[in-house]
Amino acid sequence: MPVPCSAKCGKNATLKRPKTGDALCKECFFWAFEMEVHNTIVNAKLFQRGNKVAIAASGGKDSTVLAYVLKLLNERYDYGLDLFLLSVDEGITGYRDDSLQTVKQNKIDYEMPLKILSYEELYGWTMDAIVAQVGRKNNCTFCGVFRRQALDRGAALLGVDCVVTGHNADDIAETVLMNVLRGDIARLQRCTSIITAGADSIMRCKPLKYTYEKEIVMYAYFKRLVYFSTECIFAPNAYRGHARMFLKDLEKIRPSSIMDIIHSGERLSVRDGIKMPERRNCTRCGFVSSQEICKACVLLEGLNRGLPRLGIGKSNKAKLLLAATTEDRGKKKTVDF
Ligand code: SF4
Repeated sequence: MPVPCSAKCGKNATLKRPKTGDALCKECFFWAFEMEVHNTIVNAKLFQRGNKVAIAASGGKDSTVLAYVLKLLNERYDYGLDLFLLSVDEGITGYRDDSLQTVKQNKIDYEMPLKILSYEELYGWTMDAIVAQVGRKNNCTFCGVFRRQALDRGAALLGVDCVVTGHNADDIAETVLMNVLRGDIARLQRCTSIITAGADSIMRCKPLKYTYEKEIVMYAYFKRLVYFSTECIFAPNAYRGHARMFLKDLEKIRPSSIMDIIHSGERLSVRDGIKMPERRNCTRCGFVSSQEICKACVLLEGLNRGLPRLGIGKSNKAKLLLAATTEDRGKKKTVDF
């Protein structure tokens, strides 16, 4: 027996919205999905007319849907944005080389200029080479630190006002859970903020902050968007994997769990008395850091010295080594550890 669309458009429903349980036809689902992203952008005042905005594009479902919807909303509501695609090539054979082909297709389909920065050109290392040296245990630490800085560098090269990322509601709820389970309440503010400042004060925004992953997949499927869905060959991420499974179990019982966890994270993060790290510029590369020498420089120094574990965790040895080599650079003195 056909069910009428709950938006009362007169058509029959063809799907059940994962976030609300509403029975909708495809067109009303598209409209609801796009309106939610539009409302998120407007309520959080993410952009100003004339802004240049780089979309961090990996070729995956989130950034592909983000690029498609931003282009559509920019035209429908006349935001007046100049949109770019910004990609990072980590140098992962059989993964990123394939997904970058999807981004190149997005560039043609969405008529947006594309800038690709590679770890190899920025740091002299590919992730393939890093994994060969460090193994598969801490590889994502290197990759995450280098990617954050690579996006900042790309944004500075493009001269954009803001970088938007495809972080969705599930990603944020998972990160809240992980931070709570680790007792790292200080990070809740950053992980739940819809706007965070990047290096050189270039903003980072998450327009899909309240968008469920299942709805992103559904939207991409029904819109027939081209995206790359293979997981990274170096993805261990065991801890996040547990948080993800836990969240999926909760979502099955109560779909609002995802939003509830995000809201809890937002409320917990406004507690007084939590000391946030100070922002300053790395004395080596000049990019924004909470330390005298940024994490990317510490990790790079370890790789270049054949000491890949330098900088993993909170090692005093790394601080001492970096401080000593920075101080003594002009004095040609060797420091042994
Ligand atoms: Fe990089 Fe790890 Fe993500 Fe692979 S899974 S792209 S190595 S952060």
